[in-house]
Amino acid sequence: MKVRVGINGYGTIGKRVAFAIAKQDDMEIVGVTKTKPSYEARLANKENIPLYAAKQEFVEAFEKEGIKMAGTLEDLLTKVDIVVDATPGKMGKEYRAMYEKAGVKGIFQGGEEHGIAGISFNSFANYHEAWGAQFARVVSCNTTGLIRTLFPVDNVFGTERVFAALVRRGADPADKKGALLNAVEPTLKLPTHHGPDVQTVMPWLNIQTMSVTAPTTMMHIHCVTADLKKKAKGEEILSVWDNTPRIKFVSGKHGIKSSAQIMELARDLNRPRGDFMEIIVWEDGVKVVEKTLYYYQAIHQESDVIPENIDCIRSMMKLEKDPLRSIRKTDRTLGIGK
Ligand code: NAD
Repeated sequence: MKVRVGINGYGTIGKRVAFAIAKQDDMEIVGVTKTKPSYEARLANKENIPLYAAKQEFVEAFEKEGIKMAGTLEDLLTKVDIVVDATPGKMGKEYRAMYEKAGVKGIFQGGEEHGIAGISFNSFANYHEAWGAQFARVVSCNTTGLIRTLFPVDNVFGTERVFAALVRRGADPADKKGALLNAVEPTLKLPTHHGPDVQTVMPWLNIQTMSVTAPTTMMHIHCVTADLKKKAKGEEILSVWDNTPRIKFVSGKHGIKSSAQIMELARDLNRPRGDFMEIIVWEDGVKVVEKTLYYYQAIHQESDVIPENIDCIRSMMKLEKDPLRSIRKTDRTLGIGK
């Protein structure tokens, strides 16, 4: 029997998780919630994804617009084994109580604090921590990006100290909220929360972060330096990443010099929605000087956490013991590859 999944919050992350679940043979989407009769609600209806109102008070608006509803979130919770909560950040606390009452497992996203679940998840670094758990949190897009490249490097060469400067996209492409149109804004509270967030998964990592927000919707760019314990050559670092799933190389020499060109590549490759679920590393932007590694990476904020949500469901529902088998299955079904 397939694991029955509900999605609370069918927005940027929720609709992508729904798409990814539909590609799996061991789980199925039972329904998604919306708050308003938006185009996304209409699309869910069109795709025959059962639609539920997040709260009773929202039902009337859907009915007025003639949008077919299957009930409210409370009804959905009686039909699922697990909920992926992709509501806007900091709403999870209220919903967690509902999931608990319904005896349903829940996965939260990076906009929530670690404490909401007590387990922060990354497929490579700590798949087993979520094994059978009732609640877990898939860490944010930036944290996922940092862990994807730092975990294998730390594993093979060891790290004394890591510093990352993050250039963050101001808003998602479809968002009205977001950054200043013509300014770069530093995060003044230092070090930024990204380092401690990485430590929710890799508590031993000595990492500090700073960040600025830039007027772009495309991607986040990270400039990372890591003091290694063992000597390494640039090619050896690249070889470690080459053997790690969900890391993709691009090259400035081949004309990919910006986040815009990476997104164009995703569209040229006919990736669903033009997404890049891998972390993108410039192979000609990797350098080791003595024992210090320098590199740049780009994060597609709307999609890199999607495969992690699928693996997290497998771990929490005890569907697959071996992290690599889950990762490979997820990647194969989502068309992620080198
Ligand atoms: P979003 O605003 O695109 O989508 C949120 C969805 O929740 C919308 O469909 C909205 O209608 C719905 N919603 C609003 N109020 C609700 C309520 N009371 N009950 C139920 N649903 C409600 O947000 P998003 O970007 O998908 O972010 C969701 C979570 O994922 C956040 O924790 C965020 O921090 C995290 N995240 C976002 C990104 C990103 O870059 N977009 C990346 C990684 C993680």
